[in-house]
Amino acid sequence: AQGEVLERLRAAGGHAPVAELVRDRPSLRGAVDRLAELGALRIEEEREARMPGVMAGEVAARPEPTGDQDRVLHVLREAIAGGGYSPFVLHGVTGSGKTEVYFRAAEAAVEAGRGVILLLPEIALTPLLVRAAVGRFGPTVAVLHSELSGGERHDQWWRIREGESRIVIGARSAVFAPVPDLGLLIVDEEHEGAYKQEDSPRYHARDVAVMRAKLESVPVILGSATPSLESHANAAKGKYRRLALPVRIGPRGLPRVEVVDRRETMKAGADPILTPPLREALAECLARKEQSLLLLNRRGYATSLLCRECGQQASCPNCSVFLTLHRGGRHALCHYCGYQVPAPSACAFCRGEYLRLTGYGTEKVVEAVQSALPGARVGRLDRDLAMRRGAVEKVLADFETGEIDVLVGTQMIAKGHDFPKVTLVGVIDADVGLGMPDFRAAERTFQLLTQVAGRAGRADLAGEVILQSHLPDHYALRLACAQDYEGFFEREMEFRRTMGYPPSAALVNLVLRSRDPAAAAADADAVARRLREGAPGRYRVLGPARAPLARLKQEHRFQILLKGDRTSMREAVRRALVERYGETRWPGVAVDVDPVSVM
Ligand SMILES: [Zn+2]
Ligand SMILES: [Zn+2]
Repeated sequence: AQGEVLERLRAAGGHAPVAELVRDRPSLRGAVDRLAELGALRIEEEREARMPGVMAGEVAARPEPTGDQDRVLHVLREAIAGGGYSPFVLHGVTGSGKTEVYFRAAEAAVEAGRGVILLLPEIALTPLLVRAAVGRFGPTVAVLHSELSGGERHDQWWRIREGESRIVIGARSAVFAPVPDLGLLIVDEEHEGAYKQEDSPRYHARDVAVMRAKLESVPVILGSATPSLESHANAAKGKYRRLALPVRIGPRGLPRVEVVDRRETMKAGADPILTPPLREALAECLARKEQSLLLLNRRGYATSLLCRECGQQASCPNCSVFLTLHRGGRHALCHYCGYQVPAPSACAFCRGEYLRLTGYGTEKVVEAVQSALPGARVGRLDRDLAMRRGAVEKVLADFETGEIDVLVGTQMIAKGHDFPKVTLVGVIDADVGLGMPDFRAAERTFQLLTQVAGRAGRADLAGEVILQSHLPDHYALRLACAQDYEGFFEREMEFRRTMGYPPSAALVNLVLRSRDPAAAAADADAVARRLREGAPGRYRVLGPARAPLARLKQEHRFQILLKGDRTSMREAVRRALVERYGETRWPGVAVDVDPVSVM
């Protein structure tokens, strides 16, 4: 290996970055060190000037901490200086200044000579936070994001491993970054589902962060305006320590919330997308030259194509879902497998030609705003846009500089950084997530509404939120409007306890799939029977049943849910699968322990 290294070094002209030398064979890294010890070569430190693309940061003044921030930081600094595993839940309402707490805690760790990992749910949606961090900490920041090329990613990992980068910012996989002498882990927006990797290897980056903090004996901060039920329950049990930032910074306080009952406006024959109160508020906001956000958590133009002759809807040939219409209704797309075709002109069932677009998504909302407010500059932010490289950054930058008056989007708009000129937030249909057959539906709705409402009004401008709903009495909506986290937690925990759902019990979701529905059903029956025979009393077995997404990518899916003691369930599932399939390969089986979603 040493000969190989010297050979490569000679070929490179006697001088090369370490990372370049071992790029295709990382195992040579040890030989480089040994040669350096022998004096055969010298490793010189050289600062890499090039920072990847979007991440140039301007140096901003460090804001003076408020009293609340000071109190929280005092506790964190002690934990960082003292070392040892200590998990914190930082519960800070939107606009309370969590970011400044992260930055100052990171400074404390770096000053003590330790490294820091800061996890964000999605890097592209928080360019302001990333830029602020780069501006604040300079070249010691490494940013791991999905648009890095393989080579850039490799460079970043080496810089981290060599201790050149002491602060690592990245999405979920950055939790594995090889930071030497780690001193602090921070998980921002810890309640976000994006931290869960949904295909193998399945892991939840928040849980990995807590485990890593335990293994490396360091503090970990889980921050959110709406902590997950899991984390809040752990804090209530005393497993985590709770830190609070209960008030918004600035003179204005939380925004005023108005709920529009769509059942009433429908009866009055009003536009279903922009009800009169929302339309007026938009016009006033535009006249004041301030900005608005409009949330609809459903992308596309129309939700389905309905045949008026037979009542059937155009559906995906591979999945048991309806096709969504995009690009003004000209294009039909499956959101689950990516199947796409030009919108059919005749019904696939009866060949009828009277087809009607039903429902609406973000594209249609843009159209509605443009026709209601002809002078407004309207932008859109959703997954369709995110397919184009750099498009998300462009829209966010245009919104930040005031090139866009009204930004329409899915949940992606609820997650960004603060936009100080946004004074109006409209939620077109607050009920979108509540109909999902998933035990976290209410929690996700509460979180999304609380987060998006928190985007209204910052700095010196008062904020207003208008929420349109068919279910204005639903507790998730009512409590989100009141920004009553504790109230929601109590209510939702009661539901979880009654139903035996996390965090009151552990859950395992077992999905068995096959192109042959009979084979999948037979496997599911056999595995469920075996599970019922094992360890009575330690867990309960529900199913098998057809999964809510009964067919996906041409495969039929059956689901078995287990509730109870995690260790017993894990063991029992392993035994049952080994018995059915043997030790090594379990084709078409997905075992999801602590699932984020059970679709
Ligand atoms: Zn038809
Ligand atoms: Zn499909």
